[in-house]
Formats: sequence, structure tokens, C-alpha cells
Amino acid sequence: MSISKIGVIGAGLMGNGIAHAAVMSGFDVILVDTFPDALPKALATITKNMDRQVAKGSLTAEARAAALARLTTNADYHPLAAADLVIEAVPERIEIKQAIYQELAPVLKPDAILASNTSSISITKLAAFSGRADKFVGLHFFNPVPMMKLLEITRGLATSEETYQTVLALAGKLNKTAITAHDAPGFIVNRVLCMLLNEAIVALHEGVGTVESIDTGLKLGANHPMGPLELADFVGLETLLSIMQVFHAELGDKYRPCPLLIKYVEAGWYGRKTGRGFYDYSSTPPKPAR
Ligand code: NAD
Repeated sequence: MSISKIGVIGAGLMGNGIAHAAVMSGFDVILVDTFPDALPKALATITKNMDRQVAKGSLTAEARAAALARLTTNADYHPLAAADLVIEAVPERIEIKQAIYQELAPVLKPDAILASNTSSISITKLAAFSGRADKFVGLHFFNPVPMMKLLEITRGLATSEETYQTVLALAGKLNKTAITAHDAPGFIVNRVLCMLLNEAIVALHEGVGTVESIDTGLKLGANHPMGPLELADFVGLETLLSIMQVFHAELGDKYRPCPLLIKYVEAGWYGRKTGRGFYDYSSTPPKPAR
């Protein structure tokens, strides 16, 4: 099956990045979000990011205009009837994803592929809710999607070979390098990475180091391009907490979320997106907030 029209559900951090990357690669994209403010905000973000590419000389003004013309937005799911592939990128809560799949079932065309960008939830479990388990697959993009080269593909128990081959080919068209992961919690990258981020928060919580010393330590000592606390803020602390809760339930105690992470989320300090996490984003460059 060949893909030409892609639906993206959820216009947040990941959804707007996926839409950006897909229109840049020549796909028509329908971006759907049911929250009134989300679509204009996503369009403004995509436009601003493309403008930055034009200013840097990595995109021509004509290519920018053509890419934006391939993007449409909608507040309900019905236009997704035209999509060959729908990628769901809504919050990491299984009940939200399940409710959306139920609403989508009568809308999608019979041979359309449904993918989830979930970071931690079992693809086999999500596939079972979708009513199209053979055409369901995990497509895990990385933030910021237009820049990050990796696409982690996960097959559920019932994902067909045709579905898998179709999304593998899509990865190439999106200019991504694909890896295939077994359907285990966190797949490959997050299983390892989220433990590191949580452990950095534990080190802060136990007073082993300051925000600055922990981030500098991992940047210079492990050659990481970003410190783990800076990266946790970038991912979104509420997203990291949801992921750790899934891992804790499914993989055991070594994935217990740090109490400080829980407190920050309770305070509404989600990181970059709320202006405060382990850093305070009200100034440039951001300052350690503790
Ligand atoms: P986000 O909170 O930034 O965006 C979620 C969007 O979904 C919001 O715009 C919200 O309005 C919308 N939404 C909520 N309910 C909806 C509904 N019923 N219908 C349509 N839209 C709805 O979240 P995010 O960080 O983009 O994460 C989305 C998914 O991607 C999650 O499953 C997350 O685990 C995964 N993911 C996140 C990252 C990351 O770095 N943040 C990386 C890879 C994967």
C-alpha cells in the first residue's frame, strides 16, 4: 500500500513536529486537535520553525509555501476518512487513546493504517482497542521531529507484514532511519533513556548535585549533547512521569518515579512548555530553578 495522505491526531509538541516533517517530505497532512487553542498554536509553531529554516538557507521560500499548502487543520475526525495513515499523538493516557480509536473506527477507510506515537504503552494493547489490529503499528518519533533522524517502529502481536513494510518504506520517505523494536515497555530508546532522566532527578532530590552540576556532568562526562534535567524539561515532566508510571507497573521497582518528579508535576511545573521545570524559562538562556 502506498501512503500519500497522512492524518495526525494531537497538535501538541509531537503532533506539530510530525505534521511539519510529513509536509516537508511531500505528504498531504490533515492535523486534528479537539482543543480550540491547539490548532492555531501548532500552525504558528510550524510556520515559525519553517521560517527559521528559510533564514538558515536550508529551505527555500517556495518550498516553505508549498509545504504549508499541503497542511490542513481540523477540530473533528471526519476529514481523516481520506487518510491512508493516521498517526495518533495525544497525551500518554491509555483511556484518551482508546476513546479516540473508538471514534475513529467508523471514520477511517478500511485499508488505512493507524499508528500511535506512544512512548511507553503496549502496541498490542492499543491495537486491540483499535478494531484493526493487523493495520495498527507503533511509530515512535523523537522531539524535535523535523530534526531527529530516528523512527522507532514497533509491531504489535497482530501487526501484518504488509503494514510493517508500508511504514518501513514511509520512514525512508520521511528521511528517517528506522529501528524495529520488540513490543516491550518503552521499546528500546525510552526504556534506557527515561531511567537515566529519572535517576538524574533522584540525584538532585538526594542532594548529590545541583541542576547545573548534574547537567554539566553528563554533558562533559558522558558526551551527551543535553543534560538529563534539561532534556527532561524538553520532553515534558508530565509526559516523563506518565512513562515512568507505565514502566514501574510493568517492569518493576527499578523504574519507580522519583518523588521530586511527582511533586513538580503536581505543581504544574512541566518544563519548557509551562515556563518552569528544573530550569526557569523566563530568561534567555534559561536559569536553573533550584
Ligand atoms: P502534548 O500534550 O504536547 O500534545 C497532545 C495534544 O493532544 C494536545 O494538543 C491536546 O490538545 C491534544 N489532544 C488531547 N486529547 C485529544 C483528543 N481527544 N483528540 C485530539 N487531540 C487531543 O503531548 P506530546 O508531548 O506531543 O505527546 C503526545 C504523544 O507522543 C504521547 O503519547 C507521548 O508519550 C508521545 N511522545 C512524546 C515525546 C516527547 O518528547 N514529548 C516523544 C516521543 C513520543
